[in-house]
Amino acid sequence: VSSHYHVQVTTFRTGNGAAWLDLLATLLGRYRDTQTDAIDSTESLRAWLRAHALEPVGSISMDDVARIQAAREAMHRAAVASVRGEQAQTDDVRLLDDALAADRTIRVRRDGTGLAIRRPASASEALARLVRDAVQDLSGPQRSHLRFCGDDDCSGIYLDHTGRRRWCSDDRCGNRMRVRAHRARARQP
Ligand SMILES: [Zn+2]
Repeated sequence: VSSHYHVQVTTFRTGNGAAWLDLLATLLGRYRDTQTDAIDSTESLRAWLRAHALEPVGSISMDDVARIQAAREAMHRAAVASVRGEQAQTDDVRLLDDALAADRTIRVRRDGTGLAIRRPASASEALARLVRDAVQDLSGPQRSHLRFCGDDDCSGIYLDHTGRRRWCSDDRCGNRMRVRAHRARARQP
C-alpha cells in the first residue's frame, strides 16, 4: 500500500446531493421518539466540516455547535415547506438571513492539477456557505428536484435529477423498506 494512499474515514451520512442536505442528515431519527445528533461536540463539528471541505482555519466553540444545529433545523423546516409547496416560517427565514451575514467572498488556490476553494476563516463563515447553498437551492431551479425520502420515518431530503430515485440512501432506507415489504408479503396467507 502506497504511503500516499489516503482514505477519509467518515461515519457521516453523505450522498444527498449537496453538503447542506448531508448536514440535515446529521440529526438521526428526527421524526422518531429519540434522536441522535452526529454533530454534538466541537470535535464532531470539525470532523463533519472537514469531510465536506469546509473546515475553518480558526477554532470551533460550543456556541458554533449550537448555531449550526439551530440553522440545520431551520434549513430542514424551510426545505420541507418548499417541497410541500408551503411558506417557510418567518423565524426560520430570519435565522438563515442572519447566518448569511457571516458569508464572505470565496477565494481560490491551486490544488494539484485542479483548483480548490480556500477554507473558511471561522465556523460562522463555514455555516454561511452552507446556508448560501441552501437558500440558492431553495430559491432557484434546483428546488423542483428536491425530494423526501420514500421512508416516511426518515427525514432525509435529497436532490434527484433523474426522477427515479426513491430513497435518500438506497443502501440504508431502500434496503429497510424492501425488507419491510418482504415481511408484509410473507405475512399474507
Ligand atoms: Zn431515508
